[in-house]
Amino acid sequence: MAKVSTAEPIRLEEDLFTFPIPLPNNPLKWLNCYVLRGGPGERNLLVDTGFYRPECIAALEEGLRQLSLKPEDTDVFLSHLHSDHAGNARYLQDRGCRILMGARDYAIISLPSHNRWARSGQHVLREGMPLRQLERMRQENREVSVTSGDFEAVQLQDGDLLRVAGRELLCVLTPGHTPGHMCLYDRQGETMFLGDHVLFDISPNITFWMDVADPLGDYLDSLRAMLRFPVRLALPGHRTLPQIPIEERIVQLLHHHQWRLENMLQVLAEEPGLTAYELAGRMRWRIHAKSWETFPPGQQYFALGETLSHLDHLLLQGKLRRTEEPECPPRYSLL
Ligand SMILES: [Zn+2]
Ligand SMILES: [Zn+2]
Repeated sequence: MAKVSTAEPIRLEEDLFTFPIPLPNNPLKWLNCYVLRGGPGERNLLVDTGFYRPECIAALEEGLRQLSLKPEDTDVFLSHLHSDHAGNARYLQDRGCRILMGARDYAIISLPSHNRWARSGQHVLREGMPLRQLERMRQENREVSVTSGDFEAVQLQDGDLLRVAGRELLCVLTPGHTPGHMCLYDRQGETMFLGDHVLFDISPNITFWMDVADPLGDYLDSLRAMLRFPVRLALPGHRTLPQIPIEERIVQLLHHHQWRLENMLQVLAEEPGLTAYELAGRMRWRIHAKSWETFPPGQQYFALGETLSHLDHLLLQGKLRRTEEPECPPRYSLL
């Protein structure tokens, strides 16, 4: 087991705890794992698991130990399929936990992973990313595609109710960040487990998906839908706990994407006929790199993904034209 400095769980409420799971060499820095501890005869709920790598497993095990959670009495809810959240599902299942997950993301994560990677890899190559950059990204981000293996899950639908740890939790489907992302809402406690739907000091990555027409449109709809819920305690999957009300953050995120769409239209007005990869290199990103060429390959991949989801949205709105010639990446211009 790797030696790591594990943090004490923080008690947020009588039965609600959080502890960080470190995500080494990753710009997300850490995952917030949440635990609802059940009373006698009740099951516990643990939300999200970290990557399948020793540092994450050590923090997870230490959290379980400090909160005296027995795996056989613990349900594990995965907010979405990304491996910083779902990476240890099989590991925890083997320890005796029961896994719960939204049905849509479970269907995707159950596909052989090499298929998903091969398909999205082909897509970014088609959109102009050089092969050497893709290979470097895969080399640097190996854990992104690694999980502890296949697992069985209780598959959840939008509107399902979970009764756990003396609370009633509503499953809220929030597609966008992933096609089947799911939040959990405790109406009585006005508490929302957010996964990566709303983060407070970074903006969730919205990328392309092979079988989704408009992931950004889905995300913006899911953000607006979140405003229906009164939320006193918002629990994001990464970084610091909120300093501002969630409604305020949702408005900021809506503006952020609007700004990015306008930035994209402006760049294409000045320089029509760019490929998606070239366009990504001309947009403004919040990253400390001297130039597009010096972006770490993983960040380039994320920026290109973000660019593609915004392009899909503008194409569907009829604001852009996409032209293709044989053997060349598509080029984008204003309509
Ligand atoms: Zn995620
Ligand atoms: Zn995440």
